[in-house]
Amino acid sequence: MPQKPLHVLIIGAGLGGACLAHGLKSAGVGVTVYERVAARHEGAFGCRVTIDPDGDRALRNALPPDLYNTFTATCAEPPRHLTVYSEVLEELFTTAPPVVGRRGAALRYTSHMTLRQLLLTGIEDVVRFGKEFVRYERRPDGRIAAFFSDGTTAVGDVLVGADGADSRVRRQLLPQAGLQDCGFTTAYGKVDLLEAARLLPWEMLRGISVVRGASGPVLVTQPMDFLWDSSGELKGHVHGLDAALLSTWAGRRHDDTRDHLTWWLFGPSGLFPAAPERLRGADLVEAVGGMTRHWDPALHTLLGLSEPDAAAATRAVVSRPAEPREATGVTLLGDAGHVRLPDPGEGANAALAAAWSLSGLLAEAAAGRPVAAAIRDHETRLPASGFDFSAYWKRLYRQARADTPVIGPVPAAGPGLRAVRGDSG
Ligand SMILES: Cc1cc2nc3c(=O)[nH]c(=O)nc-3n(C[C@H](O)[C@H](O)[C@H](O)COP(=O)(O)OP(=O)(O)OC[C@H]3O[C@@H](n4cnc5c(N)ncnc54)[C@H](O)[C@@H]3O)c2cc1C
Repeated sequence: MPQKPLHVLIIGAGLGGACLAHGLKSAGVGVTVYERVAARHEGAFGCRVTIDPDGDRALRNALPPDLYNTFTATCAEPPRHLTVYSEVLEELFTTAPPVVGRRGAALRYTSHMTLRQLLLTGIEDVVRFGKEFVRYERRPDGRIAAFFSDGTTAVGDVLVGADGADSRVRRQLLPQAGLQDCGFTTAYGKVDLLEAARLLPWEMLRGISVVRGASGPVLVTQPMDFLWDSSGELKGHVHGLDAALLSTWAGRRHDDTRDHLTWWLFGPSGLFPAAPERLRGADLVEAVGGMTRHWDPALHTLLGLSEPDAAAATRAVVSRPAEPREATGVTLLGDAGHVRLPDPGEGANAALAAAWSLSGLLAEAAAGRPVAAAIRDHETRLPASGFDFSAYWKRLYRQARADTPVIGPVPAAGPGLRAVRGDSG
């Protein structure tokens, strides 16, 4: 009897889930992605994401060549320097922008929403929006049934939970492995770049800036300057391949990212108002304004101009280690498997790299290898949970406030900038 072809169910069309879908689709493996948000452009994905060489390699491998080249064309202009300021905007020191590895590989800077739209291009036929996963069930025949809040069910041979930091798949698969609060909080948001240019010194519009508040919090800002203007049209100097790729990329219609200054403010949770993660929009912007009211008026005013819809706050958390268990047809990918929030510049890259690797393993399973063996290989390649993130946050915070440029400013560039000079790799 010929076997039925393998079918993979992915929960979550985020960075990991969508990248996995590309890998599976190009390998000819059956896949359907179930995404909670109702439409492609929905969801709060306003933050900046740094793509390191691992993430870049995964994108290059998983995406069709034109789409990968479109990705590079959608990245922001890289920062020219990293400068540390006091809260009254006195320049303390300037150093080179972060790079990774001994050979100093460049990083790419993208908006989370732009990268999401990029990854959703070319897999439109396999993504179902408005499908909120609720739970799964293993069937006697070994297949997995996924249940959704609209009362529908889907059945497949493998279920991949790529449903992010608050993963329901994880809660069912690893009920004991919750999240640990590390005692730090980060608020983040963005301001239109033209508005920022009216307030800030010119150098702050060209590089990463770290502002050390005397009373505790640290602010990091970075300009995100793209090849399209505020109405979404290509800027006058964009020609050649970039212009051709960007003007034919259908995903641009769904992305409202424009030039902006991205910022994040972090410090021990005690410096923030109670339960900052529950504050949204204008309330959060006001709370951040309160924390910086004694700072230079330009900075205080800047934060007050933040786009309310893009402002959010998160406690620093890390997933607790999970007990070893036998591999089955249900597994996790990206933040669902191992979260560190806000991320030290690894989460998206780890999710993309694991997605590409898992697509290869599942292609082997589609060719006849036992599914459990493929999933076991995937799970042994994942980073161990329980990384001492509390210590990481304390070190980051101490370094951000240190007076010497020796190691201080580079990790101080904060969540999303893990890069350290002299790192191996
Ligand atoms: C402020 C900030 C800055 C960051 N900067 C960086 C950085 O510079 N570099 C870096 O590598 N990483 C960074 N990260 C981390 C990075 O964004 C995440 O690690 C990455 O997005 C994880 O990808 P994922 O696919 O696992 O999850 P996500 O991209 O979060 O995708 C999860 C998807 O699942 C969907 N979903 C959730 N629940 C359900 C459900 N029940 N049913 C169906 N669908 C569901 C969600 O809508 C979403 O589309 C940053 C994070 C933050 C908050």
